[in-house]
Amino acid sequence: MAAGAMEERPSVLHGKYELGRMLGHGTFAKVYHGKNLQTGRHVAMKVVGKEKVIKVGMMEQIKREISVMKMVKHRNIVELHEVMASKSKIYFAMELVRGGELFNKIAKGRLREDLARLYFQQLISAVDFCHSRGVYHRDLKPENLLLDEDGNLKVTDFGLSAFSEHLKQDGLLHTTCGTPAYVAPEVIGKKGYDGAKADLWSCGVILYVLLAGFLPFQDDNIVAMYRKIYRGDFKCPPWFTSEARRLVTKLLDPNPSTRINIAKIMDSSWFKKSIPKTVKSNKEIEFETGDKSKEPEILNAFHIISLSEG
Ligand code: ATP
Repeated sequence: MAAGAMEERPSVLHGKYELGRMLGHGTFAKVYHGKNLQTGRHVAMKVVGKEKVIKVGMMEQIKREISVMKMVKHRNIVELHEVMASKSKIYFAMELVRGGELFNKIAKGRLREDLARLYFQQLISAVDFCHSRGVYHRDLKPENLLLDEDGNLKVTDFGLSAFSEHLKQDGLLHTTCGTPAYVAPEVIGKKGYDGAKADLWSCGVILYVLLAGFLPFQDDNIVAMYRKIYRGDFKCPPWFTSEARRLVTKLLDPNPSTRINIAKIMDSSWFKKSIPKTVKSNKEIEFETGDKSKEPEILNAFHIISLSEG
């Protein structure tokens, strides 16, 4: 219906934003290019249908995403400018990030080590900032890491995030959520988990993927994949340097109490190496050219979620 189509994507929203082409979409949202008619600022306008969200009981999650994004202002986190609502939709006016998802870059092949280091340093900086404010992302993966025009990484999609106030009496989080290939063993284990340690496991998977061009834990059978995750059963490819190998192994430690923490990551020799200026200013992303045909595909993974938090 024409009216429905208008409501689906008005060309001018609240008399303030002009909406243009679609930039991407996820399970619940469509994201459009937008322009603030008062300031001229370009934005990414995320549009979420209330009906769909209510139907699957995700309204609390949306409210949480809004509260979290208002709290976490950091140069490596996508900024939320404002939130608007109509009868049937919620609109998030967000910082426009024009370089696409890191996922699309890795799909072309593994990254050069110094570029992987630059992105990993930026990721850890954002994650450290979130954790210092009691925010756990819980769905860190290359699809949720955007790149701006200067190649800076920006974390997005806080739809599954949790606050420290969601900790149960045992001081742990209990919601099983995330994306299977990136999820920590203790999250699958359902006995409660430390959100910070679980995020760092996902960072370990991301670091592996950046350097390898494929996932550390893969299997067509999800139960077999979970078994590998539980055991921390992965191998680093031969081109990993010994320093990279050491850091990845400390991040992908299946025991969260001995897994490396942020302070030690930042102090590790691999992390601390300075980034050559040519990489920092390099707008063209450079890839290692290996024989891709021999390497497994990166899973375009789906979500697991069992909500129990209020
Ligand atoms: P999911 O299914 O992972 O929960 P979602 O429904 O919450 O996703 P997002 O992941 O937030 O939706 O956004 C969908 C897509 O829109 C992203 O993958 C990205 O391509 C694009 N996108 C999102 N935010 C921005 C932004 N700030 N700037 C540019 N593009 C964006």
